Amino acid sequence: MNGSTLDHDDQLRIILQGIFRCKGCGRCCVTADPIILNGDDVQALARHFKIPVSRALKRYVRAHPDLPGQQCMKETEPCQFFDTSRARCRIYEIRPQVCRLYPFLSGEGRARLDCPASLEVLDVAMAARAHLQQTTWEDPTAAAIEGNPKLRELFNQYMVARIVGKKEMCRELGAEIRRVMEALP
Ligand code: SF4
Ligand code: SF4
Repeated sequence: MNGSTLDHDDQLRIILQGIFRCKGCGRCCVTADPIILNGDDVQALARHFKIPVSRALKRYVRAHPDLPGQQCMKETEPCQFFDTSRARCRIYEIRPQVCRLYPFLSGEGRARLDCPASLEVLDVAMAARAHLQQTTWEDPTAAAIEGNPKLRELFNQYMVARIVGKKEMCRELGAEIRRVMEALP
């Protein structure tokens, strides 16, 4: 995502992340490298372990190997906070932002073959797409939507949100659709 404007791909990724439900298999914690840490993540680690930020930096952080100025987790594959005996994150409540946003809103922002939950989300998205392709446009409102790219996009998002049961998102998209339609010439 760049700047304040969300493009179609950003919006789709937000919806996909919204319906994503981690299965807790821990594969990403074992294979992810590097794991980016931002300033807030490091402060959270310092607070959690009751140590100064300088010590948290020394213990848990290294320079990102490819991105100048960025920092990442010191030990990975598996992540130093992954409890291998219980297959759980030992700092789950304060896990870094990149872990919270994985997989659709962090890194490459896509489903991963080694993340079973992300593949399930893709199945849902494909079903929604198939449903949309079967949708017929028989009444004048639908015809207006079909002839207007912005409305069509909003309506597609609305349909996906409805199919996957995101009620709040449906309400927001419905209100936006009404606003756009009321402004039509
Ligand atoms: S911090 Fe926790 S959630 Fe993130 S990679 Fe490490 S073990 Fe996994
Ligand atoms: S690989 Fe996917 S399902 Fe497994 S713990 Fe990571 S995010 Fe959750």
